[in-house]
Amino acid sequence: MTDVEELGWNPKTVGELDHRLLRAPTLKLRSLKSGGSDTIYCVDLRIRRPNADQYLSATELHSVEHFLLEGFQRNLPDNFVSVGIMGCRTGFYLVFSNEGRAASISSALEDILTRMQNARAVPYARIDQCGDYRNHNLALAQEVAREVLKSKATWLDAV
Ligand SMILES: [Zn+2]
Repeated sequence: MTDVEELGWNPKTVGELDHRLLRAPTLKLRSLKSGGSDTIYCVDLRIRRPNADQYLSATELHSVEHFLLEGFQRNLPDNFVSVGIMGCRTGFYLVFSNEGRAASISSALEDILTRMQNARAVPYARIDQCGDYRNHNLALAQEVAREVLKSKATWLDAV
């Protein structure tokens, strides 16, 4: 059994929590599952507080999703599995294999958000790469990245 605390997470924040208590922007370990010699880690990147009328727009979610996809593949090529948008438009689901350390995931995220500031274009935003290639906005995605970076010191304080 993996020691969640040793990985750098608050064990009280693993699993489903009362969404009225969730803070943002934060990173929290949602679940982990071991099979054979592999462990899969599901991490919530919550960008906005739930039920606070602060929802990300579909365009913001879409462009930030593309940056997370490109950035985690680059930072953690052996471990990154996928990124998904939360239907409530308050954040993203991140999935990793055999990398569940809060410090590694936080530093990859910091690198992605920092590099976003100098990006000239949203990655994978051509018609042959994306299912709604017109629905992107670099400036809005960079604004979200700045907002998340500002609270880096409290990313792990999910509740
Ligand atoms: Zn797309």
